[in-house]
Amino acid sequence: MLRNNDIYLAIPRIACGLDKLNWEIVTEMIRFIFVDTKIKIFIYTLNQNYPSANIINAPDLPFTPIWDKDVIKSEQEKDPFCISIREQLQTETDPFGYFIDNDGLLYKIDNSENDLLVVPKTFIRKVLHDFHNLPLAGHQGQAKTLLFVKSRFYWPNMKNDIIKYVSECQSCSQRKTSPHLKQAPIQTFPEIFYPFERTSMDITGPFVTSNNGNKYLLTFQDHFSKYVEIIPLSDQKAETVAKEFVTKIVARHGASKQLITDQGTNFVSKLFKHVCSFLGIDKIQTTPYYPTSNGMIERSYKVFKDFLSHYVADNQRDWDEWIPYLQMACCMNIHSSTGYRPYFLIHGRDPVLPIDNILQSTRVKTYIIYFIIY
Ligand SMILES: [Zn+2]
Repeated sequence: MLRNNDIYLAIPRIACGLDKLNWEIVTEMIRFIFVDTKIKIFIYTLNQNYPSANIINAPDLPFTPIWDKDVIKSEQEKDPFCISIREQLQTETDPFGYFIDNDGLLYKIDNSENDLLVVPKTFIRKVLHDFHNLPLAGHQGQAKTLLFVKSRFYWPNMKNDIIKYVSECQSCSQRKTSPHLKQAPIQTFPEIFYPFERTSMDITGPFVTSNNGNKYLLTFQDHFSKYVEIIPLSDQKAETVAKEFVTKIVARHGASKQLITDQGTNFVSKLFKHVCSFLGIDKIQTTPYYPTSNGMIERSYKVFKDFLSHYVADNQRDWDEWIPYLQMACCMNIHSSTGYRPYFLIHGRDPVLPIDNILQSTRVKTYIIYFIIY
Protein backbone atom coordinates (compact mmCIF):
# COMPACT_ATOMS: atom_id res chain seq x y z
CA MET A 1 0.00 0.00 0.00
CA LEU A 2 0.96 3.62 -0.32
CA ARG A 3 3.35 5.14 2.13
CA ASN A 4 4.06 8.77 2.77
CA ASN A 5 7.48 8.59 1.23
CA ASP A 6 6.29 6.95 -2.00
CA ILE A 7 6.65 8.98 -5.15
CA TYR A 8 3.40 9.22 -7.06
CA LEU A 9 3.25 9.35 -10.79
CA ALA A 10 -0.14 10.36 -12.14
CA ILE A 11 -0.92 8.75 -15.46
CA PRO A 12 -4.23 9.41 -17.21
CA ARG A 13 -6.50 6.40 -17.02
CA ILE A 14 -6.68 6.31 -20.78
CA ALA A 15 -2.96 5.69 -20.94
CA CYS A 16 -2.94 2.90 -18.36
CA GLY A 17 -4.22 0.00 -20.36
CA LEU A 18 -7.71 0.28 -18.91
CA ASP A 19 -9.16 1.43 -22.20
CA LYS A 20 -7.74 -1.32 -24.33
CA LEU A 21 -4.47 0.49 -24.86
CA ASN A 22 -1.70 -2.04 -25.18
CA TRP A 23 -0.28 -2.19 -21.68
CA GLU A 24 2.98 -3.63 -22.94
CA ILE A 25 3.66 -0.52 -25.00
CA VAL A 26 2.85 1.75 -22.07
CA THR A 27 5.11 -0.16 -19.68
CA GLU A 28 7.88 -0.26 -22.25
CA MET A 29 7.67 3.53 -22.57
CA ILE A 30 7.64 4.01 -18.82
CA ARG A 31 10.55 1.63 -18.37
CA PHE A 32 12.44 3.43 -21.11
CA ILE A 33 11.88 6.81 -19.46
CA PHE A 34 12.49 5.70 -15.87
CA VAL A 35 15.33 3.35 -16.57
CA ASP A 36 17.72 3.06 -13.62
CA THR A 37 15.16 4.28 -11.10
CA LYS A 38 13.17 2.43 -8.48
CA ILE A 39 9.80 3.92 -9.29
CA LYS A 40 6.87 1.55 -8.91
CA ILE A 41 3.80 2.06 -11.05
CA PHE A 42 0.34 1.70 -9.55
CA ILE A 43 -2.94 2.12 -11.38
CA TYR A 44 -6.08 3.49 -9.79
CA THR A 45 -9.64 3.47 -10.94
CA LEU A 46 -11.27 6.84 -11.47
CA ASN A 47 -13.38 8.41 -8.70
CA GLN A 48 -11.26 6.99 -5.93
CA ASN A 49 -9.91 9.35 -3.38
CA TYR A 50 -6.21 9.77 -3.17
CA PRO A 51 -4.43 8.50 -1.09
CA SER A 52 -6.79 5.76 -0.01
CA ALA A 53 -7.37 4.39 -3.48
CA ASN A 54 -7.29 0.65 -3.88
CA ILE A 55 -4.65 -0.67 -6.12
CA ILE A 56 -6.51 -2.57 -8.80
CA ASN A 57 -3.51 -3.47 -10.85
CA ALA A 58 0.05 -3.09 -9.76
CA PRO A 59 2.43 -4.28 -12.43
CA ASP A 60 5.57 -4.04 -10.36
CA LEU A 61 8.17 -3.11 -12.93
CA PRO A 62 11.42 -4.98 -12.62
CA PHE A 63 14.22 -2.97 -11.08
CA THR A 64 16.65 -4.36 -13.58
CA PRO A 65 17.31 -1.48 -15.96
CA ILE A 66 16.40 -2.39 -19.52
CA TRP A 67 19.61 -0.87 -20.80
CA ASP A 68 22.41 -1.69 -18.42
CA LYS A 69 26.06 -1.37 -19.35
CA ASP A 70 27.07 -4.26 -17.07
CA VAL A 71 24.50 -6.61 -18.60
CA ILE A 72 25.49 -5.65 -22.14
CA LYS A 73 29.17 -6.07 -21.26
CA SER A 74 28.62 -9.58 -19.93
CA GLU A 75 26.58 -10.46 -23.04
CA GLN A 76 29.36 -9.05 -25.24
CA GLU A 77 31.84 -11.28 -23.39
CA LYS A 78 29.80 -14.33 -24.39
CA ASP A 79 29.10 -13.25 -27.97
CA PRO A 80 31.30 -14.97 -30.61
CA PHE A 81 31.69 -11.85 -32.82
CA CYS A 82 32.54 -9.59 -29.87
CA ILE A 83 34.98 -12.20 -28.54
CA SER A 84 36.81 -12.30 -31.88
CA ILE A 85 37.11 -8.50 -32.00
CA ARG A 86 38.28 -8.39 -28.39
CA GLU A 87 40.98 -10.95 -29.26
CA GLN A 88 42.08 -8.85 -32.23
CA LEU A 89 42.23 -5.79 -29.99
CA GLN A 90 44.78 -7.56 -27.80
CA THR A 91 47.17 -7.93 -30.72
CA GLU A 92 46.32 -4.94 -32.91
CA THR A 93 45.85 -1.40 -31.76
CA ASP A 94 42.95 -0.46 -34.02
CA PRO A 95 41.23 -3.30 -35.87
CA PHE A 96 38.80 -1.42 -38.11
CA GLY A 97 38.02 1.30 -35.59
CA TYR A 98 36.90 -0.88 -32.67
CA PHE A 99 37.78 0.04 -29.11
CA ILE A 100 36.90 -0.90 -25.54
CA ASP A 101 35.87 2.01 -23.34
CA ASN A 102 36.70 2.52 -19.65
CA ASP A 103 33.60 0.55 -18.64
CA GLY A 104 34.78 -2.44 -20.65
CA LEU A 105 32.22 -2.13 -23.46
CA LEU A 106 33.09 -2.76 -27.07
CA TYR A 107 32.32 0.05 -29.54
CA LYS A 108 33.03 0.74 -33.20
CA ILE A 109 33.76 4.22 -34.52
CA ASP A 110 31.83 5.09 -37.70
CA ASN A 111 32.88 7.43 -40.50
CA SER A 112 31.40 10.41 -38.67
CA GLU A 113 33.36 9.65 -35.49
CA ASN A 114 30.25 8.38 -33.68
CA ASP A 115 30.79 5.60 -31.15
CA LEU A 116 28.50 2.73 -32.07
CA LEU A 117 27.81 0.14 -29.40
CA VAL A 118 28.59 -3.33 -30.74
CA VAL A 119 25.39 -5.24 -30.08
CA PRO A 120 25.70 -8.85 -28.91
CA LYS A 121 23.32 -11.25 -30.68
CA THR A 122 21.13 -11.57 -27.59
CA PHE A 123 20.37 -7.82 -27.65
CA ILE A 124 19.61 -7.38 -31.35
CA ARG A 125 15.84 -7.86 -30.99
CA LYS A 126 15.70 -5.40 -28.11
CA VAL A 127 17.49 -2.74 -30.17
CA LEU A 128 15.17 -3.37 -33.11
CA HIS A 129 12.12 -3.23 -30.89
CA ASP A 130 13.09 0.04 -29.20
CA PHE A 131 14.18 1.74 -32.41
CA HIS A 132 11.21 0.63 -34.48
CA ASN A 133 8.22 -0.10 -32.23
CA LEU A 134 8.43 2.56 -29.52
CA PRO A 135 6.66 5.88 -30.21
CA LEU A 136 10.05 7.57 -30.35
CA ALA A 137 10.65 5.69 -33.60
CA GLY A 138 7.02 5.44 -34.66
CA HIS A 139 7.21 2.28 -36.80
CA GLN A 140 9.25 3.94 -39.53
CA GLY A 141 10.00 2.00 -42.71
CA GLN A 142 13.13 -0.04 -43.40
CA ALA A 143 15.36 2.80 -44.62
CA LYS A 144 14.59 5.17 -41.75
CA THR A 145 14.82 2.41 -39.13
CA LEU A 146 18.23 1.45 -40.56
CA LEU A 147 19.44 5.07 -40.35
CA PHE A 148 18.14 5.42 -36.79
CA VAL A 149 19.76 2.17 -35.58
CA LYS A 150 23.00 2.82 -37.50
CA SER A 151 23.42 6.13 -35.71
CA ARG A 152 23.99 4.33 -32.39
CA PHE A 153 24.67 0.61 -32.89
CA TYR A 154 26.68 -1.84 -34.94
CA TRP A 155 26.53 -5.58 -35.51
CA PRO A 156 27.45 -7.69 -38.55
CA ASN A 157 24.65 -7.98 -41.15
CA MET A 158 22.58 -5.39 -39.31
CA LYS A 159 21.02 -4.18 -42.56
CA ASN A 160 19.53 -7.61 -43.32
CA ASP A 161 18.28 -8.01 -39.75
CA ILE A 162 16.59 -4.60 -39.87
CA ILE A 163 14.95 -5.22 -43.24
CA LYS A 164 13.66 -8.60 -42.02
CA TYR A 165 12.41 -7.21 -38.71
CA VAL A 166 10.50 -4.31 -40.29
CA SER A 167 9.05 -6.47 -43.06
CA GLU A 168 7.79 -8.92 -40.44
CA CYS A 169 6.44 -6.28 -38.03
CA GLN A 170 2.81 -7.24 -37.44
CA SER A 171 1.69 -3.75 -36.53
CA CYS A 172 3.19 -2.36 -39.77
CA SER A 173 1.69 -5.01 -42.00
CA GLN A 174 -1.75 -4.67 -40.44
CA ARG A 175 -2.05 -0.95 -40.10
CA LYS A 176 0.04 0.86 -42.68
CA THR A 177 -1.87 2.39 -45.52
CA SER A 178 -0.66 1.90 -49.05
CA PRO A 179 2.54 3.80 -49.81
CA HIS A 180 1.23 4.32 -53.34
CA LEU A 181 -1.48 6.79 -52.42
CA LYS A 182 -1.84 9.56 -54.94
CA GLN A 183 0.18 12.49 -53.71
CA ALA A 184 -1.20 15.99 -53.69
CA PRO A 185 0.62 18.24 -56.14
CA ILE A 186 2.69 21.09 -54.78
CA GLN A 187 2.38 24.58 -56.16
CA THR A 188 5.68 25.90 -57.40
CA PHE A 189 7.15 28.62 -55.22
CA PRO A 190 10.49 30.41 -55.45
CA GLU A 191 13.47 28.81 -53.67
CA ILE A 192 13.85 29.37 -49.92
CA PHE A 193 17.05 29.74 -47.91
CA TYR A 194 16.37 29.71 -44.16
CA PRO A 195 13.99 28.18 -41.55
CA PHE A 196 10.55 29.74 -41.28
CA GLU A 197 10.99 31.70 -44.48
CA ARG A 198 7.97 29.83 -45.84
CA THR A 199 5.51 27.91 -43.68
CA SER A 200 2.13 26.24 -44.02
CA MET A 201 -0.77 25.84 -41.67
CA ASP A 202 -3.84 23.67 -41.98
CA ILE A 203 -6.66 22.26 -39.91
CA THR A 204 -8.01 18.78 -40.30
CA GLY A 205 -10.95 17.02 -38.65
CA PRO A 206 -13.38 16.56 -37.09
CA PHE A 207 -12.05 13.37 -35.54
CA VAL A 208 -13.57 11.26 -32.78
CA THR A 209 -13.94 13.62 -29.81
CA SER A 210 -11.09 12.73 -27.49
CA ASN A 211 -11.44 12.26 -23.74
CA ASN A 212 -9.89 15.72 -23.46
CA GLY A 213 -12.55 17.20 -25.74
CA ASN A 214 -10.35 17.65 -28.80
CA LYS A 215 -11.76 17.17 -32.29
CA TYR A 216 -9.37 18.90 -34.71
CA LEU A 217 -5.66 19.07 -35.48
CA LEU A 218 -3.85 22.29 -36.26
CA THR A 219 -0.70 21.52 -38.21
CA PHE A 220 2.05 24.02 -38.88
CA GLN A 221 5.05 23.10 -41.00
CA ASP A 222 8.24 24.87 -41.95
CA HIS A 223 9.10 24.28 -45.61
CA PHE A 224 12.88 24.64 -45.13
CA SER A 225 13.47 22.23 -42.23
CA LYS A 226 10.17 20.27 -42.42
CA TYR A 227 9.80 20.92 -38.67
CA VAL A 228 6.18 20.52 -37.58
CA GLU A 229 4.05 21.73 -34.72
CA ILE A 230 0.93 19.60 -34.26
CA ILE A 231 -1.72 20.99 -31.93
CA PRO A 232 -5.02 19.31 -30.98
CA LEU A 233 -7.99 21.71 -30.89
CA SER A 234 -11.44 21.45 -29.34
CA ASP A 235 -12.93 23.67 -32.07
CA GLN A 236 -11.78 25.48 -35.17
CA LYS A 237 -13.13 28.95 -34.49
CA ALA A 238 -11.01 31.81 -35.78
CA GLU A 239 -10.27 32.99 -32.20
CA THR A 240 -9.06 29.54 -31.14
CA VAL A 241 -6.85 29.16 -34.20
CA ALA A 242 -5.38 32.67 -33.85
CA LYS A 243 -4.63 32.14 -30.15
CA GLU A 244 -2.92 28.77 -30.70
CA PHE A 245 -0.94 30.21 -33.61
CA VAL A 246 0.39 33.10 -31.56
CA THR A 247 1.00 31.28 -28.27
CA LYS A 248 2.26 27.92 -29.49
CA ILE A 249 3.89 28.70 -32.82
CA VAL A 250 4.99 32.33 -32.99
CA ALA A 251 5.97 32.35 -29.29
CA ARG A 252 8.16 29.28 -29.84
CA HIS A 253 9.63 29.95 -33.25
CA GLY A 254 9.04 33.59 -34.06
CA ALA A 255 7.01 34.94 -36.93
CA SER A 256 7.49 33.28 -40.29
CA LYS A 257 8.00 35.35 -43.41
CA GLN A 258 5.27 33.61 -45.41
CA LEU A 259 2.35 31.54 -44.23
CA ILE A 260 0.34 29.44 -46.66
CA THR A 261 -3.17 28.45 -45.65
CA ASP A 262 -6.23 27.16 -47.42
CA GLN A 263 -9.56 28.97 -47.76
CA GLY A 264 -10.94 27.74 -44.40
CA THR A 265 -13.19 30.33 -42.74
CA ASN A 266 -10.86 30.45 -39.73
CA PHE A 267 -7.93 31.45 -41.95
CA VAL A 268 -9.81 33.94 -44.13
CA SER A 269 -11.39 35.60 -41.08
CA LYS A 270 -10.64 39.24 -40.41
CA LEU A 271 -9.17 38.32 -37.03
CA PHE A 272 -6.60 35.94 -38.48
CA LYS A 273 -5.71 38.36 -41.28
CA HIS A 274 -5.17 41.10 -38.68
CA VAL A 275 -2.98 38.83 -36.55
CA CYS A 276 -0.77 38.06 -39.56
CA SER A 277 -0.60 41.65 -40.64
CA PHE A 278 0.24 42.75 -37.06
CA LEU A 279 3.08 40.18 -36.99
CA GLY A 280 4.34 41.19 -40.43
CA ILE A 281 3.58 37.76 -41.88
CA ASP A 282 2.84 37.56 -45.58
CA LYS A 283 -0.28 35.36 -45.61
CA ILE A 284 -0.80 33.44 -48.83
CA GLN A 285 -4.04 31.62 -49.55
CA THR A 286 -4.38 28.65 -51.81
CA THR A 287 -6.83 29.33 -54.61
CA PRO A 288 -10.25 27.67 -54.99
CA TYR A 289 -9.09 26.52 -58.41
CA TYR A 290 -6.05 24.82 -56.94
CA PRO A 291 -7.09 23.71 -53.44
CA THR A 292 -4.30 21.17 -52.97
CA SER A 293 -1.45 23.63 -53.40
CA ASN A 294 -0.75 23.23 -49.69
CA GLY A 295 0.29 19.71 -50.69
CA MET A 296 3.30 19.31 -48.36
CA ILE A 297 1.16 19.56 -45.26
CA GLU A 298 -1.53 17.37 -46.75
CA ARG A 299 1.01 14.64 -47.39
CA SER A 300 2.07 14.85 -43.75
CA TYR A 301 -1.42 13.71 -42.77
CA LYS A 302 -0.65 10.27 -44.19
CA VAL A 303 2.40 10.08 -41.90
CA PHE A 304 0.26 11.18 -38.93
CA LYS A 305 -2.41 8.61 -39.74
CA ASP A 306 0.14 5.81 -40.05
CA PHE A 307 1.78 6.74 -36.76
CA LEU A 308 -1.45 7.01 -34.76
CA SER A 309 -2.80 3.76 -36.16
CA HIS A 310 -0.06 1.88 -34.28
CA TYR A 311 -0.82 3.30 -30.88
CA VAL A 312 -4.39 4.58 -30.42
CA ALA A 313 -6.89 2.56 -28.41
CA ASP A 314 -9.70 0.77 -30.27
CA ASN A 315 -12.21 3.51 -29.39
CA GLN A 316 -9.65 6.11 -30.64
CA ARG A 317 -10.57 8.55 -27.86
CA ASP A 318 -6.94 8.81 -26.76
CA TRP A 319 -5.64 10.05 -30.14
CA ASP A 320 -4.57 13.44 -28.79
CA GLU A 321 -2.48 11.80 -26.03
CA TRP A 322 -0.16 10.52 -28.74
CA ILE A 323 0.32 13.84 -30.55
CA PRO A 324 3.45 14.90 -28.60
CA TYR A 325 5.11 11.58 -29.50
CA LEU A 326 4.00 11.95 -33.12
CA GLN A 327 5.58 15.38 -33.23
CA MET A 328 8.75 14.01 -31.63
CA ALA A 329 8.95 11.20 -34.20
CA CYS A 330 8.36 13.64 -37.10
CA CYS A 331 11.08 16.03 -35.92
CA MET A 332 13.65 13.45 -34.85
CA ASN A 333 13.58 11.15 -37.88
CA ILE A 334 15.54 12.03 -40.98
CA HIS A 335 13.28 13.66 -43.57
CA SER A 336 13.65 12.05 -46.97
CA SER A 337 13.55 15.33 -48.91
CA THR A 338 16.29 17.13 -46.92
CA GLY A 339 18.38 14.21 -45.63
CA TYR A 340 18.39 15.83 -42.18
CA ARG A 341 16.39 15.61 -38.99
CA PRO A 342 14.08 18.64 -38.80
CA TYR A 343 15.15 18.97 -35.14
CA PHE A 344 18.78 19.33 -36.26
CA LEU A 345 18.03 22.01 -38.85
CA ILE A 346 16.21 24.10 -36.25
CA HIS A 347 18.44 23.56 -33.22
CA GLY A 348 21.83 22.95 -34.84
CA ARG A 349 22.32 19.72 -32.86
CA ASP A 350 20.74 16.31 -32.60
CA PRO A 351 18.54 15.55 -29.59
CA VAL A 352 19.95 13.47 -26.75
CA LEU A 353 17.86 10.34 -26.33
CA PRO A 354 17.50 8.75 -22.87
CA ILE A 355 19.47 5.80 -24.16
CA ASP A 356 22.37 8.08 -25.13
CA ASN A 357 22.92 9.07 -21.51
CA ILE A 358 23.12 5.42 -20.54
CA LEU A 359 25.04 3.82 -23.36
CA GLN A 360 27.44 6.51 -24.49
CA SER A 361 31.06 5.41 -24.45
CA THR A 362 33.55 6.81 -21.98
CA ARG A 363 36.02 7.55 -24.79
CA VAL A 364 37.35 11.09 -24.66
CA LYS A 365 36.39 12.68 -27.94
CA THR A 366 37.51 15.72 -29.80
CA TYR A 367 34.43 17.62 -30.83
CA ILE A 368 34.18 19.45 -34.07
CA ILE A 369 31.66 22.26 -34.12
CA TYR A 370 29.89 22.93 -37.37
CA PHE A 371 28.37 26.26 -38.17
CA ILE A 372 25.50 26.29 -40.56
CA ILE A 373 25.28 29.49 -42.48
CA TYR A 374 21.89 30.06 -43.95
ZN1 LIG B 1 6.31 -1.72 -37.29
